[in-house]
Amino acid sequence: MDGHCIDDLAKDTLDVAKRKVNLFKLNRTAKEKGLQYIRKDGTVVPTRSVKPPCKCNMECFSKYTEAVRKEILTNFLRLKSSGQNQFLATHMFVKQTARIRVVNSRRTYSRVYKLPSHNGTTTVCKVMFMDTFDIKDRKLRCLADKIIQGNGVARDDGRANNTSPKEVKRGHH
Ligand SMILES: [Zn+2]
Repeated sequence: MDGHCIDDLAKDTLDVAKRKVNLFKLNRTAKEKGLQYIRKDGTVVPTRSVKPPCKCNMECFSKYTEAVRKEILTNFLRLKSSGQNQFLATHMFVKQTARIRVVNSRRTYSRVYKLPSHNGTTTVCKVMFMDTFDIKDRKLRCLADKIIQGNGVARDDGRANNTSPKEVKRGHH
């Protein structure tokens, strides 16, 4: 191999690396905006969309039309991913349901989910919440853990111990 070849090889390697970085950036932006993107393992993650509504006893499906749900998702996806997490966390309330007998037991917590509405927020079921933002249970568990760790756990009277959604928003700007 002469020097020229080595240079070419180095250039090629650099180009591949650059392409990878670009693809990563492209993927990250697409993911944030809810557009189709490709995971590292090659799995294609489709564009996020509102999933069919719940059929629960709370009748959330009668409170939120498909059009309104789409609007909520569109507005949500305009946020940066940190903003999206913050939005979800402030629309999710983790309540202590019983005296803690076992430390760190998940069973002593229950969650309340809310969607934005004309007069603030409206409580919906977990299915409605997940299927409007097109998120999975794993994501909710992750956020709930963070809320609990940050002591943003609402007491039985519904008041948060420390962080109210308003306070979080103020701190964010
Ligand atoms: Zn429901």
